[in-house]
Amino acid sequence: MCGKEDFMDVELRFCLRDPILEIHDAARYLDAAVSAHLNGNAGLAEELIHVADMPAIREWTESIWGAKSQYVKKANESSAYEHLGTERPGKGRMPNTEQKRALLVRDGYHCRFCGIPVIRMEVRQAIRSAYPNALPWGARNEEQHAAFQAMWVQYDHLIPYSRGGSTNLENLIITCAPCNYGRADKLLNEVGLADPRDRDPIRSQWDGLERFVRRS
Ligand SMILES: [Zn+2]
Repeated sequence: MCGKEDFMDVELRFCLRDPILEIHDAARYLDAAVSAHLNGNAGLAEELIHVADMPAIREWTESIWGAKSQYVKKANESSAYEHLGTERPGKGRMPNTEQKRALLVRDGYHCRFCGIPVIRMEVRQAIRSAYPNALPWGARNEEQHAAFQAMWVQYDHLIPYSRGGSTNLENLIITCAPCNYGRADKLLNEVGLADPRDRDPIRSQWDGLERFVRRS
């Protein structure tokens, strides 16, 4: 459960949709796959990466970021494009390497909205180059490994960049791909989400599979 809270009699949710158990199963398989790889058991690593590619996870992701998502209110469009602020001191949409590192240190390797474990693109690419058959990654959504797709780290603007939000640490959080693309250019209050900065990041043993790139 990603939870809820009340604020001035308005019920706010912590995330668009609660994660499903399969995501945590997939994270365990992927973590075990990296351990197997580092222990020299490539066959087991390949099998575990393959098993983590679950149709249920793809369905969860699509239910959140799909065009017909029931979890993101499409109403309120008229007020949805109010532009906030104009200051963007010398920065583009993407945070730089130093900012990304600082965000991962601050927020850890879990989505600040729904709490699922996340994995950096660079780590996924390294695993894919070692296990291309078990980790498909085509141009189309359905051609991408479902768990790596859902768990893809995002550096998400709380006030969307397209709405005037700045690329600074205060306005950026670590999220998963469905939470980022599901909310898209909506403000938190436009989709009834609580501000994740009001609660602590999740700390766990999950390392984002970073040990794969440290030692491979
Ligand atoms: Zn999420």
